[in-house]
Amino acid sequence: MPRLPSLFVSHGAPSFALEPGRVGPQLAALGRALPRPQAVLVVSPHWMTPAPRVSCTTAPATIHDFGGFDPALYQIGYPAPGHAELAQRTVEHLSTAGWPAQGDAHRGLDHGAWVPLMHLYPEADVPVFQVSLPSRLDAERAWAFGRALAPLADDGVLIVGSGSLTHNLFEFRGTHARPEAYAAEFAGWVREAVTLGDRTRLLRTLDDAPHARRAHPTAEHFWPLLVAAGAADPGLPAQVIDGGITHGVLAMDAYAFGMAGERA
Ligand code: ZN
Repeated sequence: MPRLPSLFVSHGAPSFALEPGRVGPQLAALGRALPRPQAVLVVSPHWMTPAPRVSCTTAPATIHDFGGFDPALYQIGYPAPGHAELAQRTVEHLSTAGWPAQGDAHRGLDHGAWVPLMHLYPEADVPVFQVSLPSRLDAERAWAFGRALAPLADDGVLIVGSGSLTHNLFEFRGTHARPEAYAAEFAGWVREAVTLGDRTRLLRTLDDAPHARRAHPTAEHFWPLLVAAGAADPGLPAQVIDGGITHGVLAMDAYAFGMAGERA
């Protein structure tokens, strides 16, 4: 089958599961447009470990790893099966590339995985497994981690880095009459770098982009973007999904790296 693109998705707040907003329907359209994957591999900052772990359970549980949200969110299950064989292959690819990975027979799906997947594959009929985000990354290592996963895209694995294009939770709890200008400015800078396929600029985002420190007081929700970019063939165009800004401060853009096309 043709090589699959890799995706970056902003998983936003857990309420995104029930409030598709602008980006939900676009993710659903993307899921329908892509060749059907053998499995989806999700890297989410809600599972971080010193060395990578790969979930290899055949029936991953839905983890409700958040507090203080709509009770209906805690009733949601995402019953996609796992894929032990491709998970094992992932362990091997990572180990070959110098990342001492291990399988994990118990880990389910955190909300960084299942919330966007509810839109991308609402039938929960595509197998899913997660790879933990190494806890000590910098930009170059996040990119290299994506490169280590890249061969899986040739085997029909859809590699998804799930983070948040902006992620200031201190401000998330506040009230915002309208989207904050800084979030839009930061998101616009990154979108341009993605559209240009500018690896150097992407790697320097947290150093050079306007309001980077405010958009990402900590970096873990940004690294999945570089993981997804690193997993794509370098030089290939990216499709940008304009997700707008929710809750005043959470930019919801998604990117399909290695997938030419019009801006959605
Ligand atoms: Zn998150």
